[in-house]
Amino acid sequence: MEIAQQRFSYRTASWGELAVSGALVRSECQRCGLQHHVNPLINALCFGTATSPINTLAKCTVVGCDGMIFYLALPPEGGEWIALLRGDKK
Ligand SMILES: [Zn+2]
Repeated sequence: MEIAQQRFSYRTASWGELAVSGALVRSECQRCGLQHHVNPLINALCFGTATSPINTLAKCTVVGCDGMIFYLALPPEGGEWIALLRGDKK
């Protein structure tokens, strides 16, 4: 059985929508620039399927860095990574 991928808006997407869509997600530190792969399904389970990564900042986990991370998503159909920050496109 094939699971249909659902489209979503990068302006309103929740962790649940990102997980169902099959989008790839990364986090990036605004200070050190380090990127990590993020599994949207795990974040949906941890934070709730309806919570959104948009405009969500978290403390960087790199030792010695006091920067904040934000999230980026790549649509399942490809294209460019999109910063999940309202009014901002990376
Ligand atoms: Zn950092």
